[in-house]
Amino acid sequence: MTIDIRSTGAPKQKPDDAAPLSFGVYTTDHMLVMEWTREQGWGQPSVIPYGDLSLDPAALTLHYGQAVFDGFKAFATADGGAALFRPDAYMARLNQSARRLDMPELPVGTTLAAVERFVDLERGWIPTRPDSALYLRPTMIATEPHIGVKSSDRFLFFVIASPVGAYYAEGFSAVKIKVEDEFVRAAPGGLGAAKTPANYAASLLAGRRAKSEGYAQVLWLDAVERRWVEEVGSMNIFFRIAGKVITPPLTGSILPGVTRQCVIEMLAADGVAVQERRIDIEEVISAHEDGMLQEVFGSGTAAVISSVGLLHYRGKDYPIGDGTGGELASKLFRQITGIQYGRDEDRFGWLAKVPRVE
Ligand SMILES: *Cc1c(COP(=O)(O)O)cnc(C)c1O
Repeated sequence: MTIDIRSTGAPKQKPDDAAPLSFGVYTTDHMLVMEWTREQGWGQPSVIPYGDLSLDPAALTLHYGQAVFDGFKAFATADGGAALFRPDAYMARLNQSARRLDMPELPVGTTLAAVERFVDLERGWIPTRPDSALYLRPTMIATEPHIGVKSSDRFLFFVIASPVGAYYAEGFSAVKIKVEDEFVRAAPGGLGAAKTPANYAASLLAGRRAKSEGYAQVLWLDAVERRWVEEVGSMNIFFRIAGKVITPPLTGSILPGVTRQCVIEMLAADGVAVQERRIDIEEVISAHEDGMLQEVFGSGTAAVISSVGLLHYRGKDYPIGDGTGGELASKLFRQITGIQYGRDEDRFGWLAKVPRVE
């Protein structure tokens, strides 16, 4: 495979590494692009200067939402190098999302080699402050111009990168979450398990309302009975009730999170079996009333692990613990980030070192 590299002649000013970075504000100097056509399949990947895309206003992605994306991170490791965290798992999920949206699958080996080359070129953009990383956003969109509804015969795959710090403005203190019982995010048989913009479009109104009421995100309930817990805006959800750790199962309407999988594997290695089962919001509320709801936390690439300090459901607040975050959540956060930054041994083989070519 050859990767065409065209370096920028006008590098941007990098953010000050001494100041905290907010999430997703900066983008780096370059981007990775690769095109697909129905006749030819995937073309060669190229790394080109970051810049505007040129799209026909009739491009199918703009009208019918044929698009998927993913999000993973590159870290500056303790040994001075750079590493990607579980890139194969994220690529597998991107291809799973692509299949659901009737889009072509990416060639995993070629794509990851190109991503490594891209990250190698952007090494200087990987922040070194604690809890910061270079967030990678692989995206695929339908580019064929066509006003009628159909699957596109042309797609653009691109990867952009953004140096990021902590996800929530609150930092790592616990977040307040509103249980959403009016709107739903995804129905059985729908797009819920795919990382696709449509799911986020469905969530924005509820999310903004929750924010204006003082909550960081919403907790979604199932679309049929408004009763079974699904997930939080961009995180999967875990409960610790009377010593048992519970998370909703992957039944097709929630996103199969890589961080969710890390939590399950890590706890299994410590002899804790996570129960993947349906959990009724009423079970959560009555556990709270019985003093058995010990912890609630979310898992996602951006925030890693995020403690929930309060649930709001049907006009009532349910504070959890002392509201500052749970002990299991902070242990998992330390363990996962310990591996990501190379502070701890990579005992699960989750890190892929980025080879140095530049
Ligand atoms: C990305 C995402 C998650 C978390 O998945 P990770 O792989 O852990 O980042 C959870 N829910 C939704 C809706 C998502 O889009």
